[in-house]
Amino acid sequence: MERRNSFIKSVLRTVPMQFRAAPRQTAANNLLSIVHALTWTLGVVATQRLFDAITRAAAGDAGFADCLIPLLFLAAVTFGQQILNGIHNFYWSIVEGKAQPYYRKRLFRKLSVLDPAVFENTEFLDDVNKARDGVWWLVPYSMTFLNIFTFYGVFFVSVGFYLWSLKPVLLVTLLAAFIPAVIGQTVRGKVFTKLEEESAPLRRENGHYQSALCDREFFKETRILGGYRFFHRLFTDTLKLLTQKTWKAERKTALLQLALNLLSFAGIAVSAILLFNATMSGEVSIGAFAAVFRALDTVFSIMQEIVNSHLGDMNQNLGKVANYFRVLDMPERVGEPGAPDLTLGITAENVSFTYPGREEPAVKGVTLTLNDGETVAIVGENGAGKSTLVRLLTGLYRPSEGKVTVGGLDTSLTDPSSLYQNTSGVFQGYQRYKMTLAENVEISDTAAGDANRMETVLRDADADMTIPPDTMLSPEFDGIDLSGGQWQRIAIARGLYRSNGFIVLDEPTSAIDPIEETRIYEQFRRLSEGKCAVVVTHRLGSAKLAKKIIVMDGGRIVDIGTHEELLARSEGKYADMWAAQARWYARSS
Ligand code: ATP
Repeated sequence: MERRNSFIKSVLRTVPMQFRAAPRQTAANNLLSIVHALTWTLGVVATQRLFDAITRAAAGDAGFADCLIPLLFLAAVTFGQQILNGIHNFYWSIVEGKAQPYYRKRLFRKLSVLDPAVFENTEFLDDVNKARDGVWWLVPYSMTFLNIFTFYGVFFVSVGFYLWSLKPVLLVTLLAAFIPAVIGQTVRGKVFTKLEEESAPLRRENGHYQSALCDREFFKETRILGGYRFFHRLFTDTLKLLTQKTWKAERKTALLQLALNLLSFAGIAVSAILLFNATMSGEVSIGAFAAVFRALDTVFSIMQEIVNSHLGDMNQNLGKVANYFRVLDMPERVGEPGAPDLTLGITAENVSFTYPGREEPAVKGVTLTLNDGETVAIVGENGAGKSTLVRLLTGLYRPSEGKVTVGGLDTSLTDPSSLYQNTSGVFQGYQRYKMTLAENVEISDTAAGDANRMETVLRDADADMTIPPDTMLSPEFDGIDLSGGQWQRIAIARGLYRSNGFIVLDEPTSAIDPIEETRIYEQFRRLSEGKCAVVVTHRLGSAKLAKKIIVMDGGRIVDIGTHEELLARSEGKYADMWAAQARWYARSS
């Protein structure tokens, strides 16, 4: 991924996207900006008119009535400015409310079509976090940029014409004053973009320690194991580092900015002196002097506003916005649509897979066929590669080498949604959705809406638990919580609810007692009769229910056979594992 963030590139992407996200609102906002800006210039002109009238009145050349009209004009313009200011601020939130959902939808859709394997890459996860933050900055980013032209630009050009008409050099000095401030912001932007890139992993670490200190799922461990102090120290250390980095960046830019601001101020002062001399020599009227003084003051505060606040914010958040587009530009996992014919089974030919950032493959040179209607168990020690192999067989991951076919379709060449259409699975990291029991199950097939099937799968997974299906499963939402084993049963019910010809259970029963586990696996074998089914388990007592057992070690398949065949090879890995477990579960042999 290209990691350089360009301000111009980001602006060129955000502005057209803003018009797509909220076309009418964005156009209306800009129109409002133009009118608003013109009222500011009118204010300058109205000031000149009033002061000129007062000067004439003071010299006895005009009466009170001659001053009244310019006074009312100035009052009306000032009033109009205030009204437009309010409308403009209010309208901004309308633009934001319309555009934000569009930006978020684009990001979520993109994440849903990326290759699941990229989620194993921590650098990508940093990018996603920043892209999510970036969503908040897209509207300010594009609208500020547009505002610079439609509000500040219109004001500068119109007031510039006015200054030029009075004395051309006034305009030139003003522009010269503007340049140092822009240079300051450019440097600031670069420093903060670099800071953003460097701080992301540290911020992620800090967020994790904060979760360990505050979140419910960490609470018991941090209390019982006395982890509070440990995490608090890590949290404080990382926070200190983050603050140091930010402070360093602030210090680096603040001094430079102070010097450049002084230069800008000097430019404005030179303009003021020139104006004073021009007034003394009678080149410009006293009214024009007052009006230009007002204009200089407004121009200086506007410059401060654009450069320090708007351009500053834009530069500071450039990294986040650029990350949003970086994620949107990531290649999607695409392929030919197709309908897997599961009678052809699932095959792996010399398949290897290496996780992003790892050198050693997690699965090495695996060749395997799962026939239709076959239930297969995969066993092996921790880290043997079982879960990775299962993810390859479902098509969730594409092999780094070799080829996997699901129902005759090459998983590397097929559209993923085609591959998953007849597949279901229950994985180790199953989710505990903060929803009702029924919703927790229905997620796997939201179109089904089949109450009878729901009842059946809850019973099959032993997840009916005498609580009504509309029970909320989350104390945070005034519901109840369940035990680990009960949650696992719900995850199994969810996997069963989805209609499937190929189903995977990746060790979803670790929190269920062994007797109940055996019952669930027997039930599963009955339910998956005629289907392709894969069970990953550490408990060999459950694995022996499968007709074919695959033994993995160090990413490779080291043995395949029935329970009896594998045991008969007394030197094999399976026999060793069986002997070790038999000591604990003597009666299950
Ligand atoms: P277990 O029985 O503990 O669940 P397993 O046999 O299912 O283990 P895998 O989870 O497939 O093993 O892991 C195989 C190897 O791949 C291990 O060495 C592991 O460290 C590595 N691995 C797993 N997930 C990742 C990941 N997201 N990023 C990098 N390496 C990973």
